[in-house]
Amino acid sequence: MDARLDVKSSVKVIELIEKTYPDSHYYLDFSTPIELLVAAILSAQTRDTVVNGITPKLFKKYHTAKDYSEANQKELESYVSGVSFAGNKVRNIIRACEIVDKEYGGRVPNEMKSLLELPGIGRKTANTILINAYGIVEGIPVDTWVIKISNRTGLSVEKNPDNIEEDLKAIVDKKYWKNIAYAMKAHGHAICRSSIPLCSKCFLNKLCMRNGVKDSG
Ligand code: SF4
Repeated sequence: MDARLDVKSSVKVIELIEKTYPDSHYYLDFSTPIELLVAAILSAQTRDTVVNGITPKLFKKYHTAKDYSEANQKELESYVSGVSFAGNKVRNIIRACEIVDKEYGGRVPNEMKSLLELPGIGRKTANTILINAYGIVEGIPVDTWVIKISNRTGLSVEKNPDNIEEDLKAIVDKKYWKNIAYAMKAHGHAICRSSIPLCSKCFLNKLCMRNGVKDSG
């Protein structure tokens, strides 16, 4: 059974991650809330570099929620063919934008409850939109890096992202909620790598539970 860190060590881990990656930031390119909503839906199980590679052309063609809601499914798919599950994601984008256009006057809602009612939007994406489009910090976006690093270090032994978010909210100072997911991703890319984490070089070495880590690098 995975071991969980005590509160004092958890706080230390968070502070060290935040301190080590002060310049980390959200990784998808966008200039409006609707662009962020579209990019975030496209990004599920797809590398951000792939999404950032296709969105300039997409955003040049479609601008508003109405544009997306009236888009032809096949034509819109042709702009995003590089992402996984393109058909399903495009369906969600069109349906979500229909709701945004009809029920919110074309403006992406800035409330968690309303965002969660949009197709293709879970808590991770809703938190992402609230934080990065509106500066509203209600929670912590839990992506695959947050899950991996929270589990490995013992910040949380939960597997469900919503439960991990609750564990993190209980131990992470609110001033870090906005950025901790992006700092964790930076740590994953730099040291706590997916297949072989470089534990011997890691500044968390003495605190980390290394749950599920076989090769310490
Ligand atoms: S000690 Fe290893 S498993 Fe723990 S955070 Fe560092 S690299 Fe990841």
